[in-house]
Amino acid sequence: MNVDLFPIMDNEGSEIAISGEVTTSDNNLTAVSHVSGRAINAFGRIKLEADVSSVLTTVCSRCLSPVTENLTFHISEVIGEDVTLDGTALNVDSVTMMYLFMHMPIQFYCRDDCKGLCAECGANLNNETCNCMVGEIDERLAALKKLLDR
Ligand SMILES: [Zn+2]
Ligand SMILES: [Zn+2]
Repeated sequence: MNVDLFPIMDNEGSEIAISGEVTTSDNNLTAVSHVSGRAINAFGRIKLEADVSSVLTTVCSRCLSPVTENLTFHISEVIGEDVTLDGTALNVDSVTMMYLFMHMPIQFYCRDDCKGLCAECGANLNNETCNCMVGEIDERLAALKKLLDR
């Protein structure tokens, strides 16, 4: 979504309402964000003030099953002559993306106690158990064995 700031560029105190949807995709993540706010010419500087509500669709960091999460945040950004501005067109997508990544958790889990996938056979340990000899307990035993071997 691009918003032409030309009408408020030289008009201190004026503003433009901004409302629309921004969709971003990155690897396993898709975010549909509703952006609602305004661009304001405040003392000769253009500022973007907007409320954003995003629906994130991604996968669990442990077991890779689908995860959907809602995220809301506020954008308060002074618009400069950088990637966000092309001539007088404000690139709302890039500002939204920047704030989205700032507010997003680094990892997503389908549930707090997700057991993840077996590193050996790939079984989803939330739904099934497997007979592979891997995991935390095994590592502890290996450490113990190392001690005993000394
Ligand atoms: Zn999971
Ligand atoms: Zn397994």
